[in-house]
Amino acid sequence: MAGFEEVNYYFRRAARVMDLSPHVERMLITPFREVKVDVSISLDSGELGTFIGYRVQHDRSRGPMKGGLRYHPAVDMDEVLGLASLMTWKTAVVNLPYGGAKGGIAVDPARISERELERLTRRFVQQIHDLIGPQTDIPAPDMGTNAQVMAWIMDEYSKIHGFSPAVVTGKPVDLFGSRGREEATGRGVLFAMEEFLKDVGGGEIRGKRCAIQGFGNVGSWTARFLHEAGAKVVAVSDHRGGITNPEGLDVPKLVEHARRTRTVAGFPGVDSISNAELLVSDVDVLIPAALGGVITRENARDVRARYVVEAANAPTTPEADEILTERGIPILPDIYANAGGVTVSYFEWTQNIQQFTWEEAKIVGELRRYMSEAYTTLSKVARQHRVPLRTAAFIVAIGRVGRATVLRGL
Ligand code: NAD
Repeated sequence: MAGFEEVNYYFRRAARVMDLSPHVERMLITPFREVKVDVSISLDSGELGTFIGYRVQHDRSRGPMKGGLRYHPAVDMDEVLGLASLMTWKTAVVNLPYGGAKGGIAVDPARISERELERLTRRFVQQIHDLIGPQTDIPAPDMGTNAQVMAWIMDEYSKIHGFSPAVVTGKPVDLFGSRGREEATGRGVLFAMEEFLKDVGGGEIRGKRCAIQGFGNVGSWTARFLHEAGAKVVAVSDHRGGITNPEGLDVPKLVEHARRTRTVAGFPGVDSISNAELLVSDVDVLIPAALGGVITRENARDVRARYVVEAANAPTTPEADEILTERGIPILPDIYANAGGVTVSYFEWTQNIQQFTWEEAKIVGELRRYMSEAYTTLSKVARQHRVPLRTAAFIVAIGRVGRATVLRGL
């Protein structure tokens, strides 16, 4: 099943519980705008490099559209459509005054130079600048992009439209970024997991054995926060392979190693493990934090974790979701579990607009409040309708987006 269809499968499952009419269903699913642009640049070699850039704006009924930019070779329109719609439901689940969008460029950022990456980013902004803006559509980091990329976007957009720090979030703290944004998704995963485990009878985070796929922004920060909270991170992996230690990895040393070598592979004193093995390792909590579509019909029956926490977007296919649910393995769904990133992006945008800076303690406290209030609502809806948390999350989100859409009228 493809990206957009997968999200819509979950949408329809919730829509059935809500008894939505097919017309409303179709209207809520249909994206507001899909854009595909040529992003040609001159490469360092002097040759012409041509890349394709995408931006999908899915829904704007609850506010300016918000969503990350992904630089990855597999980026295509279908994936961006799926991720853009997930953002609509995610911002609604945590009740942020935003709609949903997503974008990206089909490129492997590890295979081009820093100068080429800058030229590519600036060219992309030149192609889409009239579609984004602080009150229309606000990009943020996702796979393959970071604070430096966001800084170039702000600079390029501001050259055309005047000083506009609020056009993008996830900027460096020295350039109108927010304290706590870089680690926000990982910190949100920790807060979400605390609520989830307490609720489903899993107890405390302390002592839990966790496996994390992906050691980029989300995976590495999640590992750090879990380690600080007393969990044992027993396996991690990235695109180069994985490592495991049943006694628990030394996460601070691993972060240092990954910073130096750009991979977790080769970390001394541990065993190697493949990505496929990590997904079925014997742990309490499995945390996919890299690509989508990694827990599938093929491996879902072999998953040995007691809980799955979706730090990545769309890591579980609908078939796998059904298998895990049937097997009684509760899943904390992406549109809630990784919403910490967009929540602190909202705080950054707010600070940019107010030209006022928040202390880190305020950011952490407010993030905890948003995550905790959202969980209370999800859990209540899940019990009320006797549905899994993912369906509950979609019910909450569809209800909020649907009400805003109806109130606005056509
Ligand atoms: P990132 O680029 O910082 O890191 C990605 C990680 O995934 C890297 O460790 C990379 O080596 C690994 N990876 C790539 N291909 C892999 C493969 N084939 N097998 C195993 N590992 C692989 O990206 P990120 O920002 O950490 O995003 C990770 C996930 O979290 C994505 O699904 C993204 O959409 C989601 N997400 C990110 C944020 C955010 O704030 N950055 C917020 C919400 C959700």
